[in-house]
Amino acid sequence: MSDGIGALERALGVEVVATGDEIPVRNWNDWAGLDPVRPLALVRPRSTEEVAAALRICSEWRLPVVPQGGLTGLAGGARPRADAVALSLERLAGVEDIDPASASMLVRAGTTLQAAQEAAAAADLFLPLDLGARGSCQIGGNLATNAGGNRVIRFGMAREMVLGLEAVTADGTVMSSLNRLIKNNAGFDLRQLFVGSEGTLGVVTRAVLRLQPQPVTRVAAFCGLRDYPAVVELLRRARRGLGGLLSAFEVMWPVFCETMFAECAHLRRPLSGRHGMYVLLEAQGYDPHRDGSRFEQLLEGMLVDGLLADAALAGSEAEIRRLWEIRDAVAEFRRIFGPHINFDIGLLPQHAGAYVDRLTPLLETQFPGIRAVYFGHLGDGNLHVVTSVPEGVSAHAIEALVYRLVSEFGGTISAEHGIGTIKKPWLALVRTPAEIHLMRQLKRTLDPHNILNPGKVIDP
Ligand SMILES: Cc1cc2nc3c(=O)[nH]c(=O)nc-3n(C[C@H](O)[C@H](O)[C@H](O)COP(=O)(O)OP(=O)(O)OC[C@H]3O[C@@H](n4cnc5c(N)ncnc54)[C@H](O)[C@@H]3O)c2cc1C
Repeated sequence: MSDGIGALERALGVEVVATGDEIPVRNWNDWAGLDPVRPLALVRPRSTEEVAAALRICSEWRLPVVPQGGLTGLAGGARPRADAVALSLERLAGVEDIDPASASMLVRAGTTLQAAQEAAAAADLFLPLDLGARGSCQIGGNLATNAGGNRVIRFGMAREMVLGLEAVTADGTVMSSLNRLIKNNAGFDLRQLFVGSEGTLGVVTRAVLRLQPQPVTRVAAFCGLRDYPAVVELLRRARRGLGGLLSAFEVMWPVFCETMFAECAHLRRPLSGRHGMYVLLEAQGYDPHRDGSRFEQLLEGMLVDGLLADAALAGSEAEIRRLWEIRDAVAEFRRIFGPHINFDIGLLPQHAGAYVDRLTPLLETQFPGIRAVYFGHLGDGNLHVVTSVPEGVSAHAIEALVYRLVSEFGGTISAEHGIGTIKKPWLALVRTPAEIHLMRQLKRTLDPHNILNPGKVIDP
């Protein structure tokens, strides 16, 4: 292995290849919070060619490679191994161009999501992908995990925003498919092979992202409702009443809000009373004369007929940001809960209420003292369950309970964070043997020596 590292150093130079104490502690782990591990070496290429050279050498020497983006992943996918090279994309950053005519941008994989959003906004365009980790997560990581986030209800997941992709496969081949056409059915859609594959099939180096016109209006309200069935009805009415304007539908169970208000001093309660459920509803549009009144009329109608128990309408951009702070406070879970599990399950929106009602008493009886909160992008069926891990209880036992119930409800164990290592033991609960067989065949074809992120997602 040290010969392999020597070959990397000779080919790429010591500015690109760090070893031993030169490897920052930050690269020892991702956000999933497993035990940190120092990798054998940290490679930080500055170009696609350097990524290709690194992979060619690693393939030759059979050195495992763990691709790393912004390290905000929650499935352990970017956590290195002691016998592996960590390949960080942080230096392969920057927006190469923005084309207003085709509304697309060419971005290097190591660009942070926020930097890409800001570059699009500066060109009067809009990159709709958005998540709480925007300041650190990278476009490459977003594509490798097929990130979801706050605006899936309107614009889809990261997958839907990719027009073209450049990726380097395990043997160092550069697969450049930087297509800008919206319609291109010439053969297999290779870019989508890499999206959501969590660094197991190739390293994303550049991408062409599809942009939207920059919205000029944004309105939001924090709504209090009686119960979960009212949330499902609100979703139906908001979809019909706002049409294409509906940009976020974030659902929070009371236990989530009460925990956040108690633990995060900077948060303000938008509503004075207590309610059975809460929804952060947001619309973005292009008509400053009508969008606000359309939103207000919808709210008024639902307050009058009793679907909403109460609602706080944000009167300014600063107030909208304050409402989002409640939802984005999820970054505080580590401080609040200590050891915890951040579940990212997917269920049909009409099933999530019943799921939580079944899960809560089961958790409390089987794991006395456990704390659990529930929230999610329920407009797209994504429910986050965050539980503490009481002393003496194994995380595996809590996972078994949560995931078996998900499988009973016909849901998925990962709506957006991916499988990584953490969910790998549970994949077969929600994927058929034929699906897993085909995933293995693809892995063996693209990475015959199993050097790319080995041990993550599936074993070949
Ligand atoms: C506060 C907070 C909020 C979050 N909110 C959301 C949310 O709303 N929706 C959501 O989907 N996720 C969310 N996440 C999870 C996380 O931000 C996303 O999964 C994000 O897309 C990961 O990007 P990253 O650059 O940090 O990737 P990393 O964590 O570095 O890596 C993630 C996976 O992708 C692989 N990878 C990284 N870069 C590349 C590359 N260039 N080529 C190939 N493989 C690569 C890694 O090997 C790993 O398997 C949140 C995380 C935090 C901490």
